[in-house]
Amino acid sequence: MLLSTKDILLAAQQEKKAVAAFNVFNLETVQAAVRAAEEEDRPVIIALGERYLPTVDLEGFAALAIAIARKATVPVALHLDHAYEKESIVRAIRCGFTSVMYDGSKYELEENIARTKEIVELAHMAGVSVEAEIGSVSRGAYSDEEEGEGRLTDPADAKRFVEETGVDFLAAAIGTVHGMYTGEPKIDLELLRNIQASVQVPLVLHGGSGTPDMIIAQAIESGICKVNINTEVSLAAVSHLIQFASTAEPQRAHLSTIMADMQGTILPVMKKFVKLLAQQKQA
Ligand SMILES: [Zn+2]
Repeated sequence: MLLSTKDILLAAQQEKKAVAAFNVFNLETVQAAVRAAEEEDRPVIIALGERYLPTVDLEGFAALAIAIARKATVPVALHLDHAYEKESIVRAIRCGFTSVMYDGSKYELEENIARTKEIVELAHMAGVSVEAEIGSVSRGAYSDEEEGEGRLTDPADAKRFVEETGVDFLAAAIGTVHGMYTGEPKIDLELLRNIQASVQVPLVLHGGSGTPDMIIAQAIESGICKVNINTEVSLAAVSHLIQFASTAEPQRAHLSTIMADMQGTILPVMKKFVKLLAQQKQA
């Protein structure tokens, strides 16, 4: 069933679990994400980044994703990830996205607050929830996100930001990176706990890929309710396709089977995350 992102995340916050938000861009990635969630009997968020809009038809994609979400046996939400333009947010709201992320993290706090507040007012009128980011997530290996400064979130700024913008979930920068880590991950869990103590809204971890399981479990314990996953899924598919391309006979390979095969390859990777995020810390 298609459900509001806010309802899914508030329920996750209550049960001290997190929900996987998979970056998807086509039928196969949507189907794999929903199937991974169904097989683990957990909710899931399917997220389309604004950066894919030059090649992905937003309205067409939404129709497809919403139809699949409605048929699902578990709650599925449809999220617009890292939107920088008001125009994409308005289009996403019009075609049925259940939440949007406005990324004003490149602006100074005052301007980020003013811009985010405007988006929140607009989205809330349509019953759509909003995620925003303060601080900024830097870029690791194999990522297709923009370079961030890696500025960690200040808890006092987070408090003010949430109060003044009315945002529904907050992406906090605590040292994870977009993409894979190039060295030892330096995740500041104490900072996360301070942010959790400063705000009531569910917190979002960007850069789930390659983050050690133990750190993800501790992050969930400290208020993370949504974990974004992109690169690790992409890497699994790309490695598989490279292997396939080096051995396949062109006359026997058909695109339809390659796409189906790719969906089969990413399913266990997605399931691993859905399962990990649903684990509760043993007392
Ligand atoms: Zn992100």
